[in-house]
Amino acid sequence: MVYLVSVLRLPRLVRNHGVFYRFSSTLTSNQEKEISFADHRTAYAHLSHAEILRAWIVLKLCSFDFLLQNSLKVLETSQRVFGKGLLEKILRPTLYDQFVAGDDPQSLKETANKLKQIGVKLMILPSLEEDIGHKSDQNRYNSNVEVTLQLAEIAYQHGGPLSCLQTKITALISADLLLKIAERNRDEENHFRTISTWANYMAGGSFTPVSYLDKQENIELEMGLERLKSVGAFASGLQLRLLVDGEFTYLNRAISIAALSMAGAFNQTRPVVWNTYQCYLKDAFDKICAEFDVTRRMGVGFGAKIVRGAYLERERILSVEGNYPDPTNPSYEATSAVYDRVVQHMVEQVAALGGQRCNVIVASHNETSVLKALSKMESLGILPTDNTVVFGQIYGMASNITVKLASEGYIVYNSVPYGSLFDVLPYLSRRATENRAVLKGTRRERTLLARELRTRFLGF
Ligand SMILES: Cc1cc2nc3c(=O)[nH]c(=O)nc-3n(C[C@H](O)[C@H](O)[C@H](O)COP(=O)(O)OP(=O)(O)OC[C@H]3O[C@@H](n4cnc5c(N)ncnc54)[C@H](O)[C@@H]3O)c2cc1C
Repeated sequence: MVYLVSVLRLPRLVRNHGVFYRFSSTLTSNQEKEISFADHRTAYAHLSHAEILRAWIVLKLCSFDFLLQNSLKVLETSQRVFGKGLLEKILRPTLYDQFVAGDDPQSLKETANKLKQIGVKLMILPSLEEDIGHKSDQNRYNSNVEVTLQLAEIAYQHGGPLSCLQTKITALISADLLLKIAERNRDEENHFRTISTWANYMAGGSFTPVSYLDKQENIELEMGLERLKSVGAFASGLQLRLLVDGEFTYLNRAISIAALSMAGAFNQTRPVVWNTYQCYLKDAFDKICAEFDVTRRMGVGFGAKIVRGAYLERERILSVEGNYPDPTNPSYEATSAVYDRVVQHMVEQVAALGGQRCNVIVASHNETSVLKALSKMESLGILPTDNTVVFGQIYGMASNITVKLASEGYIVYNSVPYGSLFDVLPYLSRRATENRAVLKGTRRERTLLARELRTRFLGF
């Protein structure tokens, strides 16, 4: 009888999809949906024995603190000491193959096909980025546009409309120029004015030179805006989702101007250009609310990639060196609280506004946060197939979540980096550092991989 009553009370999602979740007796939006991510058989069925072993070894290596204290330096020094050849021999079959699709279109297509078979969508991440102090190089930015457009085509060929492509603004405009722009647009009114001016340019208006930039910088800015316009127009034409990555805080203000102005020009009918919100930052909640309001003010759609953030240690070091307050949350728990609050709030906006005006991607490997997002969708009647709240994990990480979500009918993307070994070193360093979280017990991939190896080799 109790069973019958609970079945009758099963919410719409469960009935529609024939999936049985164990719910707490009265599910509220803050309670977690109980769906198990511990199923190693399903999670790794698409991987060969060798791939599982490699994943286990790579995660094990990521657990050595001395390797990770300064992983990018370790990688760069090894390159100088041992030369590129030896480093390539060590890194290619390990870190690179674990986290990167390859450096030619064919390997990317093979990875995309593999993901398709398990119902996972491709989100391409071009490994093009630069930091302040790098010499500005207009030819490089132009060639980055070509690569980005080529990858947009591949994304579309594999996933059709609503496929995702990530992009970094520092691949298209010099980081030094972005820094100047960030510093001059600290107050909200200037910020909004610049966004409107850039959006107007991208919608076909003329370029307005900026008073605090010199002649050469204004030329570079106009070229940069032209690149943003090309990439945005191309993504819009293919009906893709173009996700602008969040980078370091000193650049993020300018990155937001770029992302929101592209949104102003290309999100007229639905969210094409999305910005990223890093919840390890103390101001993440206020920032997403403010940027949401900017798109409302412009009358265009809003898209958000919600992440915890990948540059934690560097942000903290910079704040000590620069003698300014640490912009990051004081603890892992504080970051998680902000993350879940931002996700809950944005899922509510999706429910209130509908899919043409607001979309979000919960980009996380954290089981609890994913479960909370699922429960919130459930409580607001948002279906997986609505394609308005979607999920994302990094290629090579948390297959137990990705594959499970896909098998339950959720829209889930794997962020797949694309680039040569030496171009992706900063990316690999971030992945290595990030996987230290596995040690803290927030993820259980190594245990699941070990269980799968045991099942395959020992039969139990
Ligand atoms: C599709 C996709 C796109 C992404 N795009 C971006 C991007 O544009 N920009 C970007 O920065 N990152 C990006 N990331 C990386 C993302 O930030 C990391 O994968 C994420 O932080 C890992 O956290 P998690 O949510 O998986 O949860 P967990 O693994 O549970 O959390 C680890 C995270 O918690 C935070 N944390 C850990 N310790 C502390 C501490 N002591 N104090 C405060 N916070 C702490 C850090 O952010 C750390 O990365 C992306 C990830 C995905 C899946």
